[in-house]
Formats: sequence, structure tokens, C-alpha cells
Amino acid sequence: MNNYIGRFAPSPSGPLHFGSLVAALGSYFQARAMNGQWLVRIEDLDPPREMPGAADLILKTLEAYGLHWDHNIWYQSRRHDAYQAQIDTWLANGQAYYCRCTRKQIKAAGDYYNGTCRHLQLPSDSGYAVRLRMDVPITRFYDEKHGDIDIPHDLAQEDFIIKRRDGLFAYNLAVVLDDIAQGVTQVVRGADLIEPTGRQISLYNILEHKPVSYLHLPLAVDQSGHKLSKQNHAPAIDLKNPRPTLIQAMKFLGFQLPAGIETAELAEIVAWGSQNWHIQQLPDALEITR
Ligand code: GLU
Repeated sequence: MNNYIGRFAPSPSGPLHFGSLVAALGSYFQARAMNGQWLVRIEDLDPPREMPGAADLILKTLEAYGLHWDHNIWYQSRRHDAYQAQIDTWLANGQAYYCRCTRKQIKAAGDYYNGTCRHLQLPSDSGYAVRLRMDVPITRFYDEKHGDIDIPHDLAQEDFIIKRRDGLFAYNLAVVLDDIAQGVTQVVRGADLIEPTGRQISLYNILEHKPVSYLHLPLAVDQSGHKLSKQNHAPAIDLKNPRPTLIQAMKFLGFQLPAGIETAELAEIVAWGSQNWHIQQLPDALEITR
């Protein structure tokens, strides 16, 4: 083992569908090809959007597809103290501040938050969000497959929310604190998460921690260009007969499969994938219709 640590970090809003299987497989093959570790983290940060039982179902599905993880599963729902401690540090040193603007007000002001509450020094209030002061926006980052990727300036510059008015912690904060705490060295995930990458790198910089490297995988979209997701009812992948879907997802990731592999044992197919995986095989497109 070298010190590569990768991870798959699903939100348990529903069962695994084809798009999330692609992210699981891509991160798994990359970790195994690097002789590294592959962690699984359940991102259960947003209970109203979660489906009861989805976390266990996702784990069962990964096992059924022969994707075995290292170490214990982390759950973001058990990490609230760590997130809050970091927010408290930033509130105390002025890196973060309370904001009372409602979504409606921000929308009316052009759908861009221009720092209205930055200098108001509002006191703690359960109805306020917490925002991060964005002093050094990141407008470009390097992706291991796609090279330099630009991020819209507005998005990069915004003092973004790290804790919502309803008390829920924001995804960008949790993902970075957890990746640091788990020693993750590279993030491999779907191209739908390219835009938040700038904000996440900003968080690493503020925390004075070296950012992970990034590899974004092509996103599976439907005929009308929408990401396959639980929200648009992408069907759950088959738990009882994983092989055909596994093969489809491997083809989607650009593997040229040798004759005969389709009838091999599942574990053999996964092992073959780990041995033959190369970033160069990935299609150039960021979105692929499926
Ligand atoms: N939990 C996120 C999702 O399911 C993925 C987070 C990440 O890979 O950074 O979309």
C-alpha cells in the first residue's frame, strides 16, 4: 500500500442508480490501481432529503457489486461536533459571520449574495445562517483528466454558506473537513461537482491544508440532458444480478473489455478493472447521454 487514499461519498437520498455506480467504480478503480485505500463515507447531512434505509441499501449494493471498502464507514451525521467546532473558531476570528438575509431577499438582489451582513457583526441567532468570508477566491483548478478548469468568478467570490438557517451544515464544509480528517489524497467523483470544487479548495487554503487532487468522471445524463438522480427517479440498479450493469458502467468509464470477460465471475471482472484502469481511457466529454 502506498499513501493514496480515495473515497466514495454518497448521500443517502435513495438507492444507488447508474450514475452513482459510475462514481463508485471510478473512485474504486483509481484507488486500487494506485495500490491505495478506498473509503466509503455516508453523507447524511440533510435528513429531509434522505430516504430511510438508503444508507444500508447503498452499502449492500456496493458489496453486491464486489466493491469492498477499507476501514470503517464514516457517517457525517456523527461529525456535527467537529463541523461546529470549526465554525466556532471562524466566528471567533472573523473568518465567518452570521447572516440574516433570506433567500427571497438574495433573489431580489440579483440572486447573488454581495456580503450584506459581512460587517454587521450580528450576534448568534438560531434563525441566521453562517457564511464564510471569501478573501481569496479560487477561479481555476487542475483536474487530472481535464486539465485546467475555470470556475465562474461570481460563484468563486461569494461568501458562501457553511451552516444554513435551519441549522444544517453545508456540504462544502463537511466534505473538506472529512476528507482532511480521513487523510484523503484524491477526490474522484462525478462532473456535477466541478463547480463546488473552487469553494472546496478555498476551504483548504483557509485551513492552511494542502488540497486533495481532483479527478472528475463523466456524468450520466438522460435524453433531456438531466443528471440521472434520485430526484428525477433514476431507477435503482439491480442487486440480484449485478453483472450486466457492472459491465455497462465499465464501458461508460471507457474500458475496452476483452472477449469473454462478460461471463467471468464478478470478483474477476472487478479485479481485471483494477489492474487495467488508466485515467486516459476516460471519455473527454463531461456529460454522456445514457
Ligand atoms: N455526497 C455527494 C453526492 O452524493 C458527493 C460528495 C463528493 O464526492 O464530494 O453527490
